[in-house]
Amino acid sequence: MQATRRDSALPSRMAALLAASAERARDVRARAAVLSPLGMLVVCTLLAMLAAGAACASAWRDEHQLIEAGAAEAAERTDMALAEVERELDVVEALAAASSACEEPVRLGLAKAAIRSPLVREFYIEREASSLPCGAFGPVERAWTAAAASPGRTQVVPAEDLMGGFLVQRRFADHAIVAYVSPRQVMDRMPEGVNGSVIMLRTSDGWLLGQSGGTAASPLATVRRPVAARGLWIEMPVTRPRMLARLAEHASLWAIVWGLACVVAVVVANHLIAYRASRHRQLLTALRKRRFVPVVQPIVDARTGACLGAEILMRWKHPARGLVPPLEFIDYAERSGLIVPMAALLMRTARAQLTEIAAARPSLLFAFNVTPAQLRLPDFADSLVRIFDGEPIGPSRVVIELTERDLVDAQVRDQLAHLRTLGFRIAIDDFGTGQSSLALLQELPVDRLKVDREFVRTIEPGATEAPVLEAIIGLAHRLDLPLIAEGVETPQQRDWLRERGVQALQGYLPGRPMTVIDFGSWLARHDPAPERPLPDTDHDLAEVADALRTAPQLQRDRWYRLRRYRHCLLGSELVTWWSQTRGVSRAEAVRLGRRLVARGWLSHVHEEHDFEDGPFFYQLVSRQTQLDTAAPLPSDLPPTGQTAAWLHGDAGVRPGRRVRGLLLHHDAVSGREVVDALARAGQLSRERAVLCGRALLRAGRLRHVLDERGFVDSSSAHFFLA
Ligand code: C2E
Ligand code: CA
Ligand code: CA
Repeated sequence: MQATRRDSALPSRMAALLAASAERARDVRARAAVLSPLGMLVVCTLLAMLAAGAACASAWRDEHQLIEAGAAEAAERTDMALAEVERELDVVEALAAASSACEEPVRLGLAKAAIRSPLVREFYIEREASSLPCGAFGPVERAWTAAAASPGRTQVVPAEDLMGGFLVQRRFADHAIVAYVSPRQVMDRMPEGVNGSVIMLRTSDGWLLGQSGGTAASPLATVRRPVAARGLWIEMPVTRPRMLARLAEHASLWAIVWGLACVVAVVVANHLIAYRASRHRQLLTALRKRRFVPVVQPIVDARTGACLGAEILMRWKHPARGLVPPLEFIDYAERSGLIVPMAALLMRTARAQLTEIAAARPSLLFAFNVTPAQLRLPDFADSLVRIFDGEPIGPSRVVIELTERDLVDAQVRDQLAHLRTLGFRIAIDDFGTGQSSLALLQELPVDRLKVDREFVRTIEPGATEAPVLEAIIGLAHRLDLPLIAEGVETPQQRDWLRERGVQALQGYLPGRPMTVIDFGSWLARHDPAPERPLPDTDHDLAEVADALRTAPQLQRDRWYRLRRYRHCLLGSELVTWWSQTRGVSRAEAVRLGRRLVARGWLSHVHEEHDFEDGPFFYQLVSRQTQLDTAAPLPSDLPPTGQTAAWLHGDAGVRPGRRVRGLLLHHDAVSGREVVDALARAGQLSRERAVLCGRALLRAGRLRHVLDERGFVDSSSAHFFLA
C-alpha cells in the first residue's frame, strides 16, 4: 500500500518541481535581458574611452614624428645656406688679402659679391688699423659687436640692428670679414608643409634669428634640433590646434572603433544571455530525461578497512560528453535552485539501485550531499521520509552531508534538528574550512565530521606533523564526534590518520567513485559478506525466484539466430547480479542457479542446459505452473492405462508433423489436441483433462518433444505418445 502511495505522489511532485524550474528559467532570461543593456552601455563606454585614448596617443605620436622630421629638415637646410654663405666669404677673404685699404676695387668687389649672393645683403671687411669697417659704399658705422671667436672660424651672431638680420663673421688676427644675412632669405629656404607649424632659428643662448610661417600659440611641447655644430638651433612647437586637427583626422577611425565596440558588446551580451539560458535549459532537459545519476564512493573503517558505507555523488550522464563531474554544474544548479529536483531525482535513483546491496549488508550507511536550498524547503523532511521509507533503507541508514559554511542559518539548524529526530544522521562536510566556533558545533545536532581533502593533502610522505590537520582532529576528539578523512590517496596518509585516531577514511586509496554495480563487485572483492548457506528449501528457493521476478532489468526479450526468445534471463548476467547483490562468489551463484533449475523455478529455453555462467537463455517458471507441476494429482482421476487407451483409440489423437517456430517434429501431437481428445473420449471437463495429461506425462505415457517439460494445454507445446 505504502509503495503505491509513494509512486503516485512522486510524479506530481516531480511535475511541480519541473514547473518551478521552468518558471525560474524564464526568470533568468528576463533578468539577463534587463541587465544586459546596462552592461552593454558600460562595456561600450569603456571600449570608447579606450579607443579615444588610443586615438589621442596615436595622434600625438604622429604629430610629434612629423614635427621632428620637419625640424631635422629645417636644420639641414639652414646648415646648407650657411655653407653657401661661407663659400662667398672665401671670395671676400681673397679681396681682403689683395688690399688692406677700403679702395674702389675692394668696394666694387664687395658690391659684386653682395649682388651675386641670394642670401647676403652686404659684405664688410673690418681691420684692426681702421676704426670703421669697409663696405660696398665705403667705410660704414659699425652696427654690431665683434664676436670673440677663434681665428679663421665662422660664427653667427645677431646683428642688433632694426632690420632684424644676422651676421656671419670670420675673424683673423688683424682683420675680420662679415656677411650681413637677411633672415627672410634663409627662412624662405625652410621646408614647406610641416602643417603650418612655425619654424624658429635661434642662437644657443636663445636669441631669435629668424622665424617662418604659422603661429606658436599655446604650444603643448617644443621640438629642438641643432644645426650641425654651428651653435644654432631649430625650434618647432607642437600646438594644441594642430593636435585637435589631427584628432579630427582620426574621427572616422573613432567612429569605426566605437561602432565595432558596440557590435562586440551586443554580441558578447547576447552570448552571455544565450549561454545562461541554454545552460539552464540543458540542465532542465537532463532533469526531464533523468540524466543525473549516482556514483558511490566507499567509506571504510580506518583500523579494519571494512566498508562502513558510501557517499553518493552526482554525475551528469551527458549524451556527448559522458559522465560530467559535479564541479561543472553543481554551482549553477545551486544558484538557480535546480539542485532541489536534481537531488530528489538522485536520491530516488540511488535508493532504487542500492536496495539489493542495502538489504544484503544492513550495516552500511549512505551519505547524500544536501544544500541549504533543500533544507529551507518546508516539506524537505517529508520528501526524505517518502524516499527513504523503511526497508531496506530507512532514515537511520541515511547521512545528510552539509558543508560547514552553510551552518550559520537558524532555519537550517532547526531543519537539521528536525531531521535528526526523524532518525536521519547529520555530517558536517569540509570540516575546518568554515568558521564555526566550538560552542556552535557543540549545540548542533551533528553525528560526524568530514575533514576536507585539502587538509589531508598536507600529510607529506614521512612527515610527522600537519599542524592544521592535527588541530582539526583534536577539535573532533574534543567534540567527541567521529571523524571521516576525505581524499585519502596514499598508504602514508592512511597510516598517519589511523595513528591519530581518525575513525573512517574516504578517498582514491580505499576506492574511487564508482557505479552502484561496480560498488557491488567492489564490496564482494573487498569485503566479502559473511558466508551464508545457499537457500535450499523450497520456500527459500521460491523467495529467490520471486526476487528475480522483481528485478525487471534482468528479464528481456533476447535474439538468437533470427529467433526471438521472450522474457529471458541471460545466465552470465544472472550470475553477476547475484554475486553483486547477495555478495556471493560467481561459483556460488552458479550453484544457486542449478538449484533453481533442479527445483523447476528456472528453465533453459530449450531445456538443453543446466544452469551455466554464459550466454544461455533461461526463463522463470511461473509460480502457478511450478506449484501445479510439483503438486500431487487428485486420486479420483481415471487410471492412466485407460486415458492412454483413449488417446490411441478412434476418438484419440493423430500424431503427425507439428511445427513450432523453425522446428519440425515428426509423429508429435500438441497439448491442446491431447486435452481435446481426453475431454471428448472420457466426457471430462478441460481442467480434469489437463490433470489426466499431467498424470500421463508423469507415468511416462507422454513425452515432451524436447525435454522434461511439464504438460500444458497449448497448441504450441508438442508431445510424443509413448
Ligand atoms: P565533496 O562532498 O567534498 O565530495 C568529495 C569529492 O572529492 C568528490 O568529487 C570525490 O570524487 C572527490 N574525491 C574523493 N576521493 C578523492 C581523492 O582521493 N582525491 C581527490 N583528489 N578527490 C577525491 P566530486 O564527485 O567531483 O564532487 C565534488 C563536489 O560536488 C562534492 O564535494 C560536493 O560538494 C558536490 N556534489 C557532488 N554530488 C552532489 C550532490 O548530489 N548534491 C550536491 N549538493 N552537491 C554534490
Ligand atoms: Ca560530501
Ligand atoms: Ca568534502
